[in-house]
Amino acid sequence: MFFEPYKIKVVEPVPITTKEERQKIIKEAGYNVFNIPAEKVTIDLLTDSGTSAMSQNQWAGIMLGDESYAGSRNFYHFKDTIKSIFGYKHVIPCHQGRVAENIVFSNILEPGDIALSNTFFDTTRANVLSKGGIPIDVVIEEAYNPDIEMDFKGNVDLNKLEEVLKREGDRVKIFVFTITNNSGGGQPASLKNIREVSRLLKKYGVPLFFDTARYAENCYFIKEREKEYKDKSILEIAREIFSYGDGAMMSAKKDALVNIGGFITLNDDDLAEKIKQTLIIIEGFPTYGGLAGRDLEAIAIGLKEALDEGYLNARIRQVRLLGNYLIERNIPIIKPIGGHAVYLDAKKILKHIPQSQFPAQALTCALYVEGGVRGVEIGSLMFAEKDEKSGKINYPKNELVRLAIPRRVYTDNHILYVGEVINEVFNKRENIKGLKIIKENKYLRHFTAILEEIN
Ligand SMILES: *Cc1c(COP(=O)(O)O)cnc(C)c1O
Repeated sequence: MFFEPYKIKVVEPVPITTKEERQKIIKEAGYNVFNIPAEKVTIDLLTDSGTSAMSQNQWAGIMLGDESYAGSRNFYHFKDTIKSIFGYKHVIPCHQGRVAENIVFSNILEPGDIALSNTFFDTTRANVLSKGGIPIDVVIEEAYNPDIEMDFKGNVDLNKLEEVLKREGDRVKIFVFTITNNSGGGQPASLKNIREVSRLLKKYGVPLFFDTARYAENCYFIKEREKEYKDKSILEIAREIFSYGDGAMMSAKKDALVNIGGFITLNDDDLAEKIKQTLIIIEGFPTYGGLAGRDLEAIAIGLKEALDEGYLNARIRQVRLLGNYLIERNIPIIKPIGGHAVYLDAKKILKHIPQSQFPAQALTCALYVEGGVRGVEIGSLMFAEKDEKSGKINYPKNELVRLAIPRRVYTDNHILYVGEVINEVFNKRENIKGLKIIKENKYLRHFTAILEEIN
């Protein structure tokens, strides 16, 4: 018999709205769920980022915050914890993952330089672009096919990687290994692949950094699926992963079980010095980096809690509960089910809406109107790019709606309610209309775009 390895001490009411209200709200929000007040969302699966429920120990840690400007006690706990997991020499806090990206890339990339990844996460990609860099994904081809069941769909295609390394030579300045691969469906990479990528990068002298937002979940999959690791602890697996790299950037808002925070950890002394200089200009002194002492404490405690196998088992199981509910009803999702989210395949569900009319965004809006469930589009609105020369629009291969499950927040009944809402929408999918953009920004337009239904 399964049960969660924790019980609930504090509860928060779930907002209830009517369908009529929600129809009005979605229109006012410009068919963009980022513009909906959270108090009008019943089940919020917009993101698993910064939405975790903290433990009693984390809350107790918050009360032990040492708010000294420099050298806070909590910084040392934070640093020692990160060193014990990641093993790198320098630990630099910052207030979230994208700042880590910004600071690292601004010290590594010149305009025209290349940054590689299995798949860049959207903010990571945008941070490469904003430095004039060129982001290139070298994930295995299977990652783009939502029907292929594979243990490690977050793996790098070693041929693609070596081809770019050979072709571009010194222009390649960094490899960012996203574990698990968020944009690719929360799919893990294997330790074997990480080892091989590391070997290739060493041969070409390119530093390997990990984007470790969900590294603990990646470790869980390695333990589950890579035979030689089945008797290793999650911590042992993590240590081995990081032993193959030169550093990591982390959004602590995911696998550190906190609501805000991040860090950079690395071995290179010169780069660490430069990073600290940039940090002082944009985030703060290197022992707090845009965070309060209490935040550093909560991160240190949360990092350890997320390595607990009982916790990880409950977490991954709940994501699978939703995924399997949908598979049983023949609702197309990305397979296999990833670590933090279920991804609806909007291209298959809304065959009547072309990519130019944002099918995944239309489906996202339909879920909100039907049951107050908020997911997020990962498709054309997020990724379609206009070729400046030809004016032609390049569409992404997939149109997905991501339903990210916050950690330790919802019960199985909430998750099954979400399943029912999706099923309702699926049964009347022919009625869903395409969308067009009224207003958009240059970077990360999906956060702020205003859209309208095409009638
Ligand atoms: C969330 C995330 C980031 C960015 O982190 P923020 O804390 O949201 O700024 C970077 N990479 C991955 C893989 C992420 O999931």
